[in-house]
Amino acid sequence: PADDLLERQRQRESSARSYPRRLPIALVEASGSTVRDRQGRTYIDCLAGAGTLALGHHHPVVVQALRDVLDDGTPLTTLDLPTPVRDRFVTQLFEVLPQPLRDGRILFCGPTGADAVEAAVKLARTVTGRSGVVAFGGAYHGMTQGTLALTGRKAVKEPLGSLLPDVHHLPFPTAFRSPFGLDNGSVDGAAMAGRLVEWALTDDLSGITTPAALVAEPVQGEGGVQPMPAAFAATVRRATRAAGTVLVADEVQTGLGRTGDLWASQAIGLDPDVLVLSKAIGGGLPLAVVVYRGELDGWQPGSHAGTFRGQTLALAAGAATIREVVRAGLAQRAREAGRRLTEGLATVAADDPRVGQVRGRGLMAGAELVDPGVVDADGVPVPDGWLAGKVQGEMLRRGVIVEVGGTHDAVVRFLPPLVITDEEIDQVVDAFGAALHAVHA
Ligand code: PMP
Repeated sequence: PADDLLERQRQRESSARSYPRRLPIALVEASGSTVRDRQGRTYIDCLAGAGTLALGHHHPVVVQALRDVLDDGTPLTTLDLPTPVRDRFVTQLFEVLPQPLRDGRILFCGPTGADAVEAAVKLARTVTGRSGVVAFGGAYHGMTQGTLALTGRKAVKEPLGSLLPDVHHLPFPTAFRSPFGLDNGSVDGAAMAGRLVEWALTDDLSGITTPAALVAEPVQGEGGVQPMPAAFAATVRRATRAAGTVLVADEVQTGLGRTGDLWASQAIGLDPDVLVLSKAIGGGLPLAVVVYRGELDGWQPGSHAGTFRGQTLALAAGAATIREVVRAGLAQRAREAGRRLTEGLATVAADDPRVGQVRGRGLMAGAELVDPGVVDADGVPVPDGWLAGKVQGEMLRRGVIVEVGGTHDAVVRFLPPLVITDEEIDQVVDAFGAALHAVHA
C-alpha cells in the first residue's frame, strides 16, 4: 500500500539501505515487543534493531533513565570527560563482565559495532607488533573497510577490491552445511575446524605469519545463526594462547543475555582477551565499547578517538538496561523463551521438508529453508533464499517482522526482545507455519 513516508524515502535515500525493500512499512509507534505502522497495524518485532532492544521498545526503566538525564542537566556530550552517568555505566558493566575482564580496561568507541571491532584489531596489532588477522567464513563484523575485510561473505566484498591486507579466513564449524561435508557423524566438523585453527596459527608450513588477532562471534548472526561449539571454542582458546594471538570475541549481537547466558563467549569457554560490545548495551541508543585484559593496555593516548563515543543518553539508557537485564533474570528468560521458540519452529519443520534445520541459542534463532528436491554433493538440500524472502513477506502480512541471513539469505532469523511473552512466541511460530503454507499455494 502506498505510504507517503515510504515514497519520500524511496525518492531521497540511497538504495544502499536494505530493509525497506523487504519490509515495506513505515513505523510510528512501538512498545514492548511490538511496533505499529502508519495504517495502525501492529507487528511483533523479531528484528528489534538487529538484536539491539533487549528490553523491547520504550521500556519504562529506559524511558525514565533518559528523562532523568534531560531533567538533571548532565551534559549530553563530553567527549571523554567523566560524568556521573558515564561512571554509573562503567560501574554497572564491570559488575557483570566475565571475571577475567573485571580487572581490565574499557575503551568507548564508535558509536557503532564496526568501529569497536576496528579498535579491537588496532589494539591487537599495536600490542603484538604483528599485522595478521584470522576471521571465519560466514563472519559479520561491520561495513567499514577494515571490518568488511574480516567479513566471511564474498558478495559484499568483491565490488570493493582489496581491503585490509593479511586477513585469513578459516572455516567456521557450521552445523548442517559444513565445509567438511555432511555432518552425518562420519566427519566431526568442529574437530576438523579446530585442527585447522591450530595448524594455521602454529604450524610453520601453514605459511600464515603468526596473527595479531583472531576475531570470532560466539554465535554467528548475519551468517545464518551458527552457534560456535564449545569444543571448538576450547581449541581456539588454546591455539591463540600458544601463538600469542589476541583472541577477540565479537559479542555485538550476542552480548547481554540474548543467547541465554549473559555472555555467549563465557558460556562456551571462549574466554576472550578482548570483548567487543554494542547493540544491547546502549539500550537502543548508539553505544559501542571494547573491554580488554589490563595487560593489553599498551597503546598510546589518542590511538582510537571519535566524537560521539560515550554519548550521555546512550550511557544512561545502557546502564538502566544492564541493571534491568540482571534484575529481571532476562538471560535465563531468553533461554526458556528460546527453547519455546525453537521447539515451536521444529514442530513446523517436522511437517515440512522445506525447513532444513532449526538452530540457535536462546533468543537468537534461525530456520534454514531449503529446496528438498535439489541436493548438493553431500546430499544436503540446497538453501532456498527465494523461499525465505517469500516467507519473510508472508510473515509481515501476518504481523511478524523477521530478518533473513546466511547462505543465499535462506535462513529466517528471529531476534526478538528478551521480554517477548510466551503468547507472542506462539504467534510468531504460528505465523511462520502459516507463511510457509501460503507459499505452497
Ligand atoms: N559485529 C556483529 C557480530 C554484528 O552482528 C554487527 C551488526 N549486525 C556488527 C559487528 C556491526 O555493528 P554496527 O552495525 O553497529 O556497525
